[in-house]
Amino acid sequence: MGEETISIAAPPSKGYLTATDLARFHVHLCKKLLWLSHDQRKWKEQGAGATQQMNVLDRARFAKGNKWEERLQKRLEGKGLIWRGPGSRHISVGELIQMIKRDPRSHYYAVDISFAAPSFATHLEMRGWPVGAVAFGTFKPDFLEVWVERDANGVVSGFKWRIIDAKASKKVKISHQVQIGFYWLCLMELFQEWSEATAESDFIAITPDDIGSVWIPPSDATVITAAETPSLTGEFSLPMLRPLLENFLFEEVPRTLSKPVTKVPWHFNPLCRGCDFVNRCAGETVKEGRLGNIPNLSISDHTFLKDVAVGSGGLTDLEDLHRLVHFGGSGRGRDLGPGSWAKVSRLLNLQRGGHGKETIDLDACGIHESSVLRSATKHTVEPNLRRCLVFPQEEDVGVYLSLGMDPETDLLFAYSIVGVDHSTDATLYSDQRVAGSETETFAVTFIESLASLIQILLSKKDANLEASNQAISALRVQFYVYASAEQTALAQILVGEATSQPECSEATKLCIGALLNHSSVLLTTVHPELLSSKVLFRVQKAALVPEVKRYLRIFGGPDVSLVGNKETLLARLEGIINGSPKVTQETGLMRLMPKVAVLSDCVQWIISMPVPGWYTIEECFAHLVSPGTTASQSVSSKQDMWADMYTLFKSDPSSAELKFLLGKHSRTMQAVSKALRHSVESACQSSGKPIESVLPNVAREFEVLFIDVCRDLELRRLLFMCQYEIMTQLESLIKSRLSNTHNTHLTLHSHLGGSEYVFTPTSGTEYLDVAPSSSAWAPYGYLLTRADSEAALEFDDLAWAGVVGLRIGGGDGWGVAEVAGWDDAGRVKIKVRAPRNVMRDGAFVLSRRMVDFNTLKLIKTILTIDHDTQESPESPPFFTRLLHGSPDIDLPLSAQKDQAAEERLQRFYREYYTLVGGEKALLFVGSQRKAFRAVLGRRVSVVWGPPGHGKTHTLALSALRLIELTGRRSDSPQPFRILVTASTNNAVETLIGKLASLLQHVKSIDNMQRGEWRDHVATLILSKEKSKMPDPATLPPYAVVGATVWGVHTWRDKYAHKSPISSHFSSLIIDEGSQMTVSEAAIPIDAVMRGPDVDAKRLIVAGDHLQLAPVLQGAYPVSSGRLFGSVLEWFVDVTASEAGTRMDMLTENFRMVTELCTFTNKLYKKGGVFIPMRAGGEAATGASLSTASDHSDSHPPSLPPTTDAPPLLTTTSLDTALTIPDGSHARNAILLPHAFASIELQLEAEARAVVHILRGFLTRGVDLNQPGTVMVVTPHRAQRSAVGRALLAAGLACEGVKVDTVERIQGGEADLVVVCYAFSGCASYHESTLAFTYHLPRLNVALSRARDTCILLTTRALLFPPITVAGTPDMRGALAHLWGFVHGAWVRQWADGAFGTSEVHECETREASVDDGDEEAAYGFGSGDEDAMIEAMRAMGV
Ligand code: SF4
Repeated sequence: MGEETISIAAPPSKGYLTATDLARFHVHLCKKLLWLSHDQRKWKEQGAGATQQMNVLDRARFAKGNKWEERLQKRLEGKGLIWRGPGSRHISVGELIQMIKRDPRSHYYAVDISFAAPSFATHLEMRGWPVGAVAFGTFKPDFLEVWVERDANGVVSGFKWRIIDAKASKKVKISHQVQIGFYWLCLMELFQEWSEATAESDFIAITPDDIGSVWIPPSDATVITAAETPSLTGEFSLPMLRPLLENFLFEEVPRTLSKPVTKVPWHFNPLCRGCDFVNRCAGETVKEGRLGNIPNLSISDHTFLKDVAVGSGGLTDLEDLHRLVHFGGSGRGRDLGPGSWAKVSRLLNLQRGGHGKETIDLDACGIHESSVLRSATKHTVEPNLRRCLVFPQEEDVGVYLSLGMDPETDLLFAYSIVGVDHSTDATLYSDQRVAGSETETFAVTFIESLASLIQILLSKKDANLEASNQAISALRVQFYVYASAEQTALAQILVGEATSQPECSEATKLCIGALLNHSSVLLTTVHPELLSSKVLFRVQKAALVPEVKRYLRIFGGPDVSLVGNKETLLARLEGIINGSPKVTQETGLMRLMPKVAVLSDCVQWIISMPVPGWYTIEECFAHLVSPGTTASQSVSSKQDMWADMYTLFKSDPSSAELKFLLGKHSRTMQAVSKALRHSVESACQSSGKPIESVLPNVAREFEVLFIDVCRDLELRRLLFMCQYEIMTQLESLIKSRLSNTHNTHLTLHSHLGGSEYVFTPTSGTEYLDVAPSSSAWAPYGYLLTRADSEAALEFDDLAWAGVVGLRIGGGDGWGVAEVAGWDDAGRVKIKVRAPRNVMRDGAFVLSRRMVDFNTLKLIKTILTIDHDTQESPESPPFFTRLLHGSPDIDLPLSAQKDQAAEERLQRFYREYYTLVGGEKALLFVGSQRKAFRAVLGRRVSVVWGPPGHGKTHTLALSALRLIELTGRRSDSPQPFRILVTASTNNAVETLIGKLASLLQHVKSIDNMQRGEWRDHVATLILSKEKSKMPDPATLPPYAVVGATVWGVHTWRDKYAHKSPISSHFSSLIIDEGSQMTVSEAAIPIDAVMRGPDVDAKRLIVAGDHLQLAPVLQGAYPVSSGRLFGSVLEWFVDVTASEAGTRMDMLTENFRMVTELCTFTNKLYKKGGVFIPMRAGGEAATGASLSTASDHSDSHPPSLPPTTDAPPLLTTTSLDTALTIPDGSHARNAILLPHAFASIELQLEAEARAVVHILRGFLTRGVDLNQPGTVMVVTPHRAQRSAVGRALLAAGLACEGVKVDTVERIQGGEADLVVVCYAFSGCASYHESTLAFTYHLPRLNVALSRARDTCILLTTRALLFPPITVAGTPDMRGALAHLWGFVHGAWVRQWADGAFGTSEVHECETREASVDDGDEEAAYGFGSGDEDAMIEAMRAMGV
């Protein structure tokens, strides 16, 4: 059931591949799939295996795509823009050209046309393959857009074409791009063949467009097939894709097809779902003892295990793993670093003591060390006995939700809701329904049904309360779905319903309040509460009475009494906030208990099952409820229950069987959940563990909660986001502690006295960060626990989040720690705050704790703004007006007067410099002046400045000029003060430092008329200590004060009632706005932009959208006016509709040498002109299009002389490596050191390479003690730690050498910059972190810090990534940027080893062994033939 047969086109004389096969490869990431698809067609020719099966759900998805395409065609047809071809009959390009010559239109879309694919003979022969090594079937682009050119007589002289495919998908995927790229290559080849065979008289010019286009429905279309116009986000650069695609098609595919199938690497995994060959591969996986016997093992984890464990010859993969576990102290296991071993332990759920254990008779062994391996090998269900926070140990009521989404319409087609009271096993509620004719409103039926159940639960809770008369309620309810897709569908249905009507229905509100805590609710007007008020907000005794009253109103509502003295009011407020019953019930771990548990995830965490690939709900049931099910039975039951139900729905929606199956789905979940709990109980009993050690959480108290402390919708969203950030951060911390990742293991060596101890690290040194200072307020950001205790998991991060080390004494089994440094023996010195009994001899674990001083500041600011907005709705605070886009905020008060005065000042300085000459520091030049005049003309301005374009100078001079304009206006000083702020101290200090130097310049001008103002100007950086923060009223009349946003908050708080900041400041400058969130920006904006003269104040936000965005843990909806990104993005977005009325760009570069400047500018310019772009897809697309088009001026791309390409050499000497033929040194260079399989070894080698580079600088005479000389940029903290230690050991930790992560060096610069990306050499690590590595803003910041020389230390893998990197605009843009760097850089292969010897080692890259049969990666072409790739890159001029 659930399968249908479709016919395929008649094959040519041998096997071939279709565009769909190529796309499928990029969905399943499997070479075997390509091989089998190709081979299947050979059988068909011989009369065997003549059909191709398509799953009913896939078929529905296919139908959805067709419907979407039809709608688009119909729309274009209505506009007379469609030309229809003959449909399934192939045409030649000659026929197509004749048609184009005959058609009178100049622009239209050809549809229903298909062509026979070319042989690509030249491409194959060029790479050493015979013609026919790979053949392709017919291909049929959805749309061929044609623009026709005619001569003066109206005769067609040429045309340009573009390929467009319609995809009913939510986003553009790499599989779509590969398909379009394939059509593009095919048509270019066919047109080329036509041109060569055509007589001159018939010739016309045929130009391919560089853009490929995927028409997907607009993102706000709730029902894809109802949308009319495509989203505009589907364009991508084809020249950018071309080298990766050609390498894939003409190198990797023929290589795969040339092997016997037994030599083709593959891995049976969850991505196999939907593949035609599932049953075959599942069977082979079991038979051959492959790693795919471990269910849900991802492809990158498979690569990792293959790398570290497999390959000892003659053994199956599982046997190899078995050897690794037992003989970890020898063989391949010996080479594993502790981090890699920790990963093995996590993947196999190894019990302590497995590593290095010398046993044993493998055959007799029970593999007790690893439940995962034992289950896969012995085909048994094994308890993992590891802590699971998302499955409750107990619940009063379990609710089982089953949701079926129609893949053709994306609408709910059937649901089942079953609620069971576990005290009596009685069914409280049961409802199974199928959509009839009313499919569009069926979601409402579901929501109303769910709301009815919620009402029943609320009544039951009330009844319980009444009966027991308890202060705390007693109804613990757990909702379940089976798969995470159903959880997503649930959120989608509720959010869709909440946003489809102006007023959200009560039923929807109830459901959202009871079930959702996902960030998608940010789109709705209903926001469930995440954290209790007590955590959200702490009552501070130091608060003044008006403040206490304000918070009483916020938390107590309009009827709360405000009568009484301060103590009374405080006690009342404390009572209200502590009154929440949730606070007394939930521990730190409890907060991680989801409202809706995903049962399949719980099963995976709690038990190991002998099911290859992944398991369905039936398999869970079979193994948990019917013990004795065999692995081979699992293999044959991969059919999805929903596919059966969908088939019934399509044939007979009223079928009784369908309703029965719906109920069965929910009941199966109930049975699985019960059996799961039972299996934990019995495993705990037999192992003597308490059940709490595995299932510490119980179901949540049932509550329907909303945030109602904040009334304004946008402010409410910001408040919700602040909470969501904490929750997400907490979740990832607990997960890493649970899975033992990012932990450092240590043994106590000695006690130095006081709080200082020395430890010997045994693993995880890469996670140690030496504290920058040892101030009394050091955060003590690590949690130190005894290795044999579970205190790390019990630790309540939230309760201690805002407490610094000196106020923590530690607790049962735990303390807090600060890393003080390393000693000469490689041991680590740590300051510890812990009870004495914790600090006994033995083993310890160090993990990061959540340190958060700032969320409360954000929340207080948002609450204050909301309170004031409600109090005076007629004139709300400036920030609220900004949030709502009030038009009046842009009206300048004194623009004309100021601009006229500025004209005079500019003339004065120009004349001054004409007389004295020298550096014209006080003169605005070019775009800087335009930006400043724009600042004068507006109250809110955005200054956009790429790296090196004088943004800091412009802001500093603008601040000085604003003061000067005021200072010259009257004889007695009229106060004019400016607050300068940013997220980091670094940025604030740089700006204030620049301003101080400009002030010196202006003070040095003799006999300046009306220059008295200069004597009253002060610049200062606000002290970090609250007690030293000055009263703003005491500042000189003209002052520029710099402070981070957090400093501004403390300062404002300190003087809120005595001397508000807003009364003393006239303007606010926010620098590095791309790094500051909107809610963070609320702090300085609300602090300054207030008061009676608010309409005379100016707000300037500066930044660069292509630099790093704020680090947000949660994933937020992209709509909502970019409220959930940076303040710069938000402003750019707000102003986008006003076509740049607020934004000005700086377009001249002042910092970098030409080579660096030219490279960087490619990101920001299109056609040689700076273009305003926003971050994310749009900017990245622009970057990749612009980079690609810079190198392909004509079509098709011509081959430039190969001598232009940078050579690859081998050398150990830095000077030799960087010296170019004219004797000067390279400004842009890439050094390619050795690649290692283990990330620890790779990082060590990278750190040694950095030491060697710095020694090279020393030899060249560089003064490493001069501040600002060298910057070493490390994307990962682990790299920073490794490089820092290596420099220390080499005596190179000098004053002028700064080593830091990209986030922390943003805004900084140095003469010589080393950018470390050598971690890309570790294949499994690289392939699992592509999104981090190919992150355009991070790369842009890292590569644009240098004033003189930028050295990129990396491996070939970074430059030749898997084709998947071209799949998203951001990664594609990053790769384009890297290739731009390659284009201008001096590329050198560098030696491995000690990097100091004269011996030259050839680099043994992993690629060299890729073609070596079993060693080959199972997926992801692209790291194969480097020469072919270089050729292809040369073809596009890179
Ligand atoms: S089932 Fe999986 S491993 Fe087998 S061919 Fe398909 S994608 Fe490849």
